[in-house]
Amino acid sequence: MTHPTSRAEATRAAWKTVLETYHEDRETPETADYWSAKDTWSADRTRAVQDEKIAAVAPFLYENSAFYRRRFDRLGVAPTDITSVETMVANWPVVTKYEMMEDATAHPPYGTYTTCDQAEWSDRGWMLFSSSGSTGVPRVFRYTHFDRKFWEQANARALYSGGLRKGDSALPMVGFGPHVFAWGVQYTLAKMGLPVIPGGGMDGAARASLIERFNPSVLVCTPSYLLYLGRTMQDMGKDPAQTSVRWLVTGGEPFSGVSGTLERIQDLWGAKSVEFYGCTEASPHCGGYSCPEYQEGDEPFIHLMEDIQVWETVDPNTLTPVAEGARGLTVCTNLNSESSAQLRFLVGDYTRLSHAPCACGRNHVRAMGCMTGRSDDLINLRGIKFFPVQIEEAVRAVPGTGDEFQIRLATMADGLDVMTVVVEHTEAGIADRVAREIRSRCEVRCTVEVAAPNSLPKSEMKARRVFDQREK
Ligand SMILES: [Zn+2]
Repeated sequence: MTHPTSRAEATRAAWKTVLETYHEDRETPETADYWSAKDTWSADRTRAVQDEKIAAVAPFLYENSAFYRRRFDRLGVAPTDITSVETMVANWPVVTKYEMMEDATAHPPYGTYTTCDQAEWSDRGWMLFSSSGSTGVPRVFRYTHFDRKFWEQANARALYSGGLRKGDSALPMVGFGPHVFAWGVQYTLAKMGLPVIPGGGMDGAARASLIERFNPSVLVCTPSYLLYLGRTMQDMGKDPAQTSVRWLVTGGEPFSGVSGTLERIQDLWGAKSVEFYGCTEASPHCGGYSCPEYQEGDEPFIHLMEDIQVWETVDPNTLTPVAEGARGLTVCTNLNSESSAQLRFLVGDYTRLSHAPCACGRNHVRAMGCMTGRSDDLINLRGIKFFPVQIEEAVRAVPGTGDEFQIRLATMADGLDVMTVVVEHTEAGIADRVAREIRSRCEVRCTVEVAAPNSLPKSEMKARRVFDQREK
């Protein structure tokens, strides 16, 4: 073994030692109920591990990421000022996407917010992922093959918590582009020893045929594609609820928190949702995941995996922490990666956190109501702010509306910004009812146009539903 010769190497060795210390190379669950007993750690034990990881990762970031070093120096903060969750929150303002975008623009193509140099990238090997945000310069992230074993275990804990077991088999219906969700699930299915039937690069009819011939119990795709494929099968005279499918593993779009959409899709398939929530910036594995209790109470929720990430909510204006239970934007500290560890990254989804016990026995914090909109997607119409998911809930609340809808924003000749919502329905008279639902939920007036059923375009991956043609 070579001895570290520089601070960069010494802090890297220390960080990798911490990562390895808490890594479990499992191919089978630890107990019948939990992939890892980490799921049931006490809050105190989890906090102690978070503190240990933060104390190792702060100097590692300072010595190995130019983005982080500049930020530490600009803020007058030393790595030794950040040794625990408490001192991190007190001393380290949240990192925004705009800071990363600036860095990526100044240092193309990768930016300097990751922590390997050319020798390490070459040594480890890597995969390229891209942020899927709808605004600004796409930021790219490389994750090494060394990191992959950490995502496999995190995702295995999540899929096992969602209900997947030996005997299940999966049909991923994804494009395998530079998006973390599908790749993370794919590697994890292999690690868990579950069969995979590749479903990329074919149309709905071909996928329906795969389901009938090979009887997968798990579908992996976006929520909007589940709607599309289910309706395609109905058009073919088949009933999705009568197939072998039991679990719907989804990522990439808000789902469980969108009232009306969750029920619509679960009823269509006669299957249960297993949600993956996360972001490209703070590791390729999921941070938020479903458990067996996720919709037993008044509102759905997801757990957030706390021994490998620190989750907080902050005020959208001041970016300072809000009290537990108050609505705020999600912030993630990623403590599960060599190549993209991050301190207090503003993911930016609205939710409320709760440490109240969950009947599933997992002690990790819960995001109540799941995620109800990313701050990037917030629509500001004449000073009234609302999320596309609020429009979606209003549309879903009206019986007989089709699955697709569009939000069109435009500027009139007199300079007034207006919104038109297009829904599918057999009756043109339904427009008033939809407009009333939107007004009561979003406090905004709009025009509703009614299109014929199945006339709006359906998208395979992330649904595009907002068309903003306003003059800036
Ligand atoms: Zn639970």
